[in-house]
Amino acid sequence: MDAAEFRRRGKEMVDLIADYLENIEQRPVYPDVEPGYLRSLIPEEAPEEPDTYEDVVKDIERVIMPGVTHWHSPYFYAYFPTANSFPAMLADMLSGAIGCIGFSWAASPACTELETVMMDWLGKMLKLPEDFIAGTHGQGGGVIQGTASEATLVALLAARSRAVRMILASDPQRPETGITSKLVAYSSDQAHCSVERAGMIAGVRMKKIPTEQSDKYAVQGETLRRMIQEDKAAGLIPFYFCATLGTTPSCAFDHITELGPICNAEKIWMHIDAAYAGSSFICPEFRPLLNGIEFADSFNFNPHKWLLVNFDCSTMWVRKRSDLIGAFKMDPLYLKHDHQDSVCSTNPNPLIPLCLTLSPPLPQTTSQHWQIPLGRRFRSLKMWFVFRMYGLKGLQDYIRKHVELAKEFESLVRADQRFEISADVVLGLVCFRLKGSNEVNETLLKRINNGRKIHLVPCQLSGQFVLRFAVCARTTESRHIREAWGGRLIIMAETERLE
Ligand code: PLP
Repeated sequence: MDAAEFRRRGKEMVDLIADYLENIEQRPVYPDVEPGYLRSLIPEEAPEEPDTYEDVVKDIERVIMPGVTHWHSPYFYAYFPTANSFPAMLADMLSGAIGCIGFSWAASPACTELETVMMDWLGKMLKLPEDFIAGTHGQGGGVIQGTASEATLVALLAARSRAVRMILASDPQRPETGITSKLVAYSSDQAHCSVERAGMIAGVRMKKIPTEQSDKYAVQGETLRRMIQEDKAAGLIPFYFCATLGTTPSCAFDHITELGPICNAEKIWMHIDAAYAGSSFICPEFRPLLNGIEFADSFNFNPHKWLLVNFDCSTMWVRKRSDLIGAFKMDPLYLKHDHQDSVCSTNPNPLIPLCLTLSPPLPQTTSQHWQIPLGRRFRSLKMWFVFRMYGLKGLQDYIRKHVELAKEFESLVRADQRFEISADVVLGLVCFRLKGSNEVNETLLKRINNGRKIHLVPCQLSGQFVLRFAVCARTTESRHIREAWGGRLIIMAETERLE
């Protein structure tokens, strides 16, 4: 394909995408295929001679679409949202075209610098403490990770490295393996499974802190304090706590104003996972949910969930970037470049004579030290396009609309005596169930999903099987919510059939 053909095909592809998204609600939201459906639809091997572009495009409807779960259908209410907007898609096209691997400033200065500035823009939208903003005199800054799971792991690895360094500083003779085998990390029993997985990958003990329905599934300071004391008495070394703001099952919020000071006093790294809920903190009315951030060592959320920036874009800030760099720094000769020491510019440290006085500061000239992979895509372009084309006000309106839609669904549920709401509705997630057994709720969910008109997933809260209704798509309107509840069959009709 030459540039002339690319121009033509590109325009056709944009039309295809716009048609797909404009007409998406006509498609069943959930596919009707069995595992392995695709293999029989395409050849066993790649073609020896090239296929035509027309052949490939024809196969999108024949091969791909039958097996697509349409996450951007306004009838998709499962999991949490994944973002989708036209500005982000256009920016992604440009990112693909530039196709740089921005692991260092020299590898692509614009990629490194735009990311730093976009992280500051977003940090300021969230009213993060100055410590976390790279363009100030703080020692922190932000970086785009692929997913919240990666951010949790990166924070855990940095915390492990910091804990080992701190102990060795006071007891240099102690063998490192003797330290790591005693480390213990904590998270809520409501935390995402990626937190437990991070513990498995890092090879450290991860303890789950029990929560109660009566405390709205939030970790209590007293429980954390007791577990820390018990573990210390048993010779263990508490070093990491992952708080969740907006848990996956019910969108519960740990009390970080209470938990943060405990972590700080015990020199425990507090990471905050706000994968879904974090986007809402750009609205002043939801920002109090982030109070206590000043006690955190690191904080992460996914603009690729609820801030109109297509996957992948998971934003992570650290209070002290030296904690991350200390854990991950590698400097082979083939990655060195003339400007790498300008990293010092936002960390004026009189002990490091190489500090440059660049203005504005360039804190991430070595972004490979902030993450697990070396390579990084030009993901900040998506943020730049979206932030400029929606503006803060447009993004706030978007979040507020989803919360209103969730409240509308909640009131429909509350008006029906057969149902109950299982957890406070704070943002765009409604947890509800039929009053009655788990079995009847399981059957209801199965019937709803088998109908393929809407798609929901369940969760378990205090031993109860609960249906989760998350407002997800950018195009969801009140009529879709009413339709999901009472119109065209769906939840009400399936309930009536059960009775
Ligand atoms: N943390 C929370 C609270 C989540 O809800 C999720 C996913 O929904 C994750 C982490 C995992 O996100 P990611 O896919 O970005 O790793």
